[in-house]
Amino acid sequence: MSASYAFSPAAISTIPVTGKDAVFPVRRIYCVGRNYVEHAQEMGFSGREAPFFFCKPSDSIVPVAYGETVSIPYPSETGNLHHEIELVVAIGKGGKNIAEDQAAKHIFGYAVGLDMTRRDLQMDLRKAGRPWELGKAFDQSAPIGPIHTIETTGEIARGAIQLAVNGEKRQSSDITKLIWNVNETIAYLSKYFELQPGDLIFTGTPEGVGAVKPNDLMTGSVEKLGEIRVKIC
Ligand code: MN
Repeated sequence: MSASYAFSPAAISTIPVTGKDAVFPVRRIYCVGRNYVEHAQEMGFSGREAPFFFCKPSDSIVPVAYGETVSIPYPSETGNLHHEIELVVAIGKGGKNIAEDQAAKHIFGYAVGLDMTRRDLQMDLRKAGRPWELGKAFDQSAPIGPIHTIETTGEIARGAIQLAVNGEKRQSSDITKLIWNVNETIAYLSKYFELQPGDLIFTGTPEGVGAVKPNDLMTGSVEKLGEIRVKIC
């Protein structure tokens, strides 16, 4: 006899897939830190380090449909909420010790995502040598647009990545400027974790991160993946 749940389990977070009825079920969210030289520099580092990772909970996802403006609450216990626009890689085939030249075979697709950050808490935790969860892994900290399958986009190794706040450009770079490109990131991460279908990798943000406040509208895009609109309420 199988045991019943003591209460209903939480729903699986899902992301719409452009051109398909099926949605992408999210398993884990891995995020790369300081993966553009000029962002590493604005954070006080040289940009020459090995990749490092942190995670967000799968239910921190907030799906954002194109043409729609989604509101997220200004999180508690911060006075310095930052935007980080990122290319997100969605994994469709699992694996460990994945070779760089095989990495693309594990990609289901791509999306535009925001790694929202309580910068004040993250900096305090960083200084104290403590984990970053309070700064990075809070509720609704990962707004994300629809996933575009790799069949429709091809491998994304270049293209503009941008973010504006209230129409004013804040972040503007190119995917070619990733320190650890997508294939290298998948290869490196898969040495430490067995990747599984449903995993997301936030690949890092370019320079120009900054604060947003209630009523600000963020407009973020990656070439080929369209634009997402997220408002702070
Ligand atoms: Mn980030």
